[in-house]
Amino acid sequence: MHNTNALLNEFYDIIQDPYVKMQETKGSRYFGFNCIFIPEEIIHAAGFTPVRILGVYNDDQYNETYFHRCSCEFARNLLHSYLDGCYDFLDGSVFSQCCDALFAVYQNLEKMRKNVYYFWTPFHSKPSGFGSEWANHFIVKKINEFIHFFKDNYQIKITNNDILESMKIYRENISLLNKLTDYYQQGLITCIDYYAIRKASLFIRKEKHNALLNKLFSGFDLTESKGNNHNSRKKLLISGFLNADMEWIHYFYKMGIELVADDLCCFSRYAGYGYPADSYPADDQNTLMLLAKRISSKKCPVKVGSNQRYEDLIKRYHESGAEGILFFIYQFCDIQALEYAQFSHKFKNEGIRTLFIQPSLHYKDSGQIDTRIEAFLEML
Ligand code: SF4
Ligand code: SF4
Repeated sequence: MHNTNALLNEFYDIIQDPYVKMQETKGSRYFGFNCIFIPEEIIHAAGFTPVRILGVYNDDQYNETYFHRCSCEFARNLLHSYLDGCYDFLDGSVFSQCCDALFAVYQNLEKMRKNVYYFWTPFHSKPSGFGSEWANHFIVKKINEFIHFFKDNYQIKITNNDILESMKIYRENISLLNKLTDYYQQGLITCIDYYAIRKASLFIRKEKHNALLNKLFSGFDLTESKGNNHNSRKKLLISGFLNADMEWIHYFYKMGIELVADDLCCFSRYAGYGYPADSYPADDQNTLMLLAKRISSKKCPVKVGSNQRYEDLIKRYHESGAEGILFFIYQFCDIQALEYAQFSHKFKNEGIRTLFIQPSLHYKDSGQIDTRIEAFLEML
């Protein structure tokens, strides 16, 4: 049996200053992506390590040449990180159609950096929106163009077999992460370790993450509970744009919260959706369509209608055994704030308690947030 702590440390090592380490790595090829709707398997099939691009800075000194102060801090932070060279190790970056703020990041970068790509995806408007046949065909077309981008810019020819091989690896990763979630829900792993392991998948090739997960599972002591069976902790579902910031995960834990489920861009929204079972495995004819169907099955406030999102959140809430929902939204993110405005009274009518918090990206331990969270937890 392996030493579980030593194995866990391998994940922690990956998430500790990942971009600095990549900057120092010679000979590896990295490609940045910003969103769950990117066909990451194509980047993988091209031989790059797909790297999730998150903001780096913790201060508030973002350059206001490109963004007004009253615009999304996360987007400002992201652009600042690029301009300051934090992502110079990337061989290219791809942005997907999300909000105006992220589009502005792309527009600025595209003028200043080589190999910055924009992946268009439909919105949820009917009848041609996400999940429709038209939308899936549109995504297939865009994936084909993305494949050509690698050929034109890097002289890399991606074959159908390359994509199928990558899909196999991604499928295994989804299944291993589901197993990890089962272990977490059984209390065999702590909340902090759970999110750290998942975060590591954002910075390494998935076959490496799979190997680490398999090693971890083979060394697991299935008799020893370490995690979320603490009755004293308040169980919450978290929704929003936390962007894999482990300091916040630690903060919630310190406040007596057990995050029993999430609806976050870097965690469940990212890896919680597999390939549709009825069309897997893919063949030469339907490979890209299967990728498109996986993309269009994902749910986030930008891409699906509010009824669908509401039902999805309610289902998650009941399945997880949460006692309330924490909406954690960065300042000036209208998308999620408007969604909360639509949902809050519905949750209230169902007797579900919610808390809406808009922290500042650079300011972690606010007394005001402490007080609001403490008051919320007392109500549960
Ligand atoms: S909100 Fe949706 S579209 Fe925007 S980055 Fe997150 S997953 Fe992508
Ligand atoms: S936090 Fe909201 S406004 Fe900011 S980049 Fe993400 S979706 Fe856009």
